Amino acid sequence: MSRGLLIVVSAPSGCGKGTILEQVRKRHEFYYSVSATTRAPREGEKDGVSYHFMTKEGFEKLVSDNGVLEYASYCDNYYGTPRGPVEEMLAAGKDVVLEIEVKGAMQVKEKCPEAVLIFILPPSVDTLRHRLNKRKTETEEVIEKRVAEAAGEIAQSVNYDYVVVNDDLDEAVENFLTVIKAEKMTVKRSHALIDKISEKGDNKL
Ligand code: 5GP
Repeated sequence: MSRGLLIVVSAPSGCGKGTILEQVRKRHEFYYSVSATTRAPREGEKDGVSYHFMTKEGFEKLVSDNGVLEYASYCDNYYGTPRGPVEEMLAAGKDVVLEIEVKGAMQVKEKCPEAVLIFILPPSVDTLRHRLNKRKTETEEVIEKRVAEAAGEIAQSVNYDYVVVNDDLDEAVENFLTVIKAEKMTVKRSHALIDKISEKGDNKL
């Protein structure tokens, strides 16, 4: 069985990556990695579903036990990807999505060179500010901090494999799915298929 695809998705907050992934999931099955974080839950967020909410001490223990694939500090909180479930799912042939920020994404790129890195861009920084204001989940001060962080993050999209602009949602979803589809057809991921076909001896390569 071929290993699942490790898909790393980053986007400044307010880019609508949650909505894109929701739509993508309706058309392509994947395991969504639930991160660990020291940030406080927002209204409606459930422990173990949105995040594994942890204390700083608990998080540091997880890191020192080699329990995370990557981790980073973002806006004064720790965020990290629990290693075990990701490795299990990939080995079972399931595609895995990590929704993480850029510092963590660069760690994954280094550790797992086969990972596919997708950066979701807003049509403009101003659209982003507008979307964050509309969401009303953060104070104005936090929003401005996130907008400043976003500008820095966007500059780092050059280190990713693909960019998807979220202007029109349907188009963004379609483009995201196209990336997955194309990645699955790369020769480096098709050796098992090529072997299978050539064993039949029908020379249809
Ligand atoms: P939020 O607080 O808005 O849920 O997330 C803030 C940022 O942390 C987002 O960019 C999100 O993608 C990122 N993030 C969430 N989980 C992880 C993780 O496990 N590792 C890293 N490096 N970043 C994460």
